[in-house]
Amino acid sequence: MSTSRPIALVTGASRGIGRAIALELARNGFDLAANDLSHSNDLETVVAEIKANGVDALALPFDVSDLGSHEIALTNIENGLGPLTTLVNNAGVGVMHRGDPLDVSEASFERCMTVNAKALFFLCQAVARRLLAQTRDPARPRSIINITSSNATAVAVPRSEYCASKAAAAMISKCFAARLGPEGIAVYDVQPGLIETPMTEAVIDGYKQRAADGLCLFPWVGKPEDVAQVVASLATDRLPYTTGHVISVDGGMLVPRF
Ligand code: NAD
Repeated sequence: MSTSRPIALVTGASRGIGRAIALELARNGFDLAANDLSHSNDLETVVAEIKANGVDALALPFDVSDLGSHEIALTNIENGLGPLTTLVNNAGVGVMHRGDPLDVSEASFERCMTVNAKALFFLCQAVARRLLAQTRDPARPRSIINITSSNATAVAVPRSEYCASKAAAAMISKCFAARLGPEGIAVYDVQPGLIETPMTEAVIDGYKQRAADGLCLFPWVGKPEDVAQVVASLATDRLPYTTGHVISVDGGMLVPRF
């Protein structure tokens, strides 16, 4: 167990943006607890890739929407790696079916809300309690970084329940930032735009065309590594004296224009 390195939990780390964040934090000297739904070859591969950077890592499979698993998981991190400094709430789900808000099913609405908002809230809560129980050390930056979405503010009509869940997650980020600010703990809302990952695989060609046609100021879609580098900058306090704000990683997509 290391005592001096910062220690991060990244949820949904077996692929996509979460995987890139875990690897980038490892390159920045973090020990890592890499979470995903289950023990898979993908998760084990990520853990091996993290360790190749000379840091400690453990695979920590649990369903973030199972609130009862949070305390067990956090205790496993403390026992296996040490006291947590950083939570990256990345795990998320899209809609079950794209379509008219008039046709959204209760099941899809519940799934988005449960994983993208409720699980995120209670993992923030569980981690915040543990951070507050630690002795404060200004040399050891502590933060909670929530990966929400441009859809926290921008409407996507065929994915209305996803938008609603991400808007909730954005507000949760502000609430925890306000609560934890006096304790010197930063909370950020990172809002990716169009990023090429397994989640967007089916629609990425359309997104690339729309980005090229002017939807984004940069006429291309982003990579998981773009989000990861921003997250690592936040986690290592390279944006000092910041908290509570939205950090957009969207190629300028949401810059108002007319
Ligand atoms: P992805 O589907 O490729 O990866 C998400 C990971 O989260 C998967 O490994 C999945 O198994 C895991 N996960 C899902 N539910 C979980 C649960 N209940 N418990 C534990 N793990 C769970 O998605 P991605 O594109 O890498 O997205 C990562 C995050 O970024 C999500 O929150 C997503 O909403 C957000 N985001 C993505 C984009 C984009 O364009 N890709 C844009 C904006 C926001």
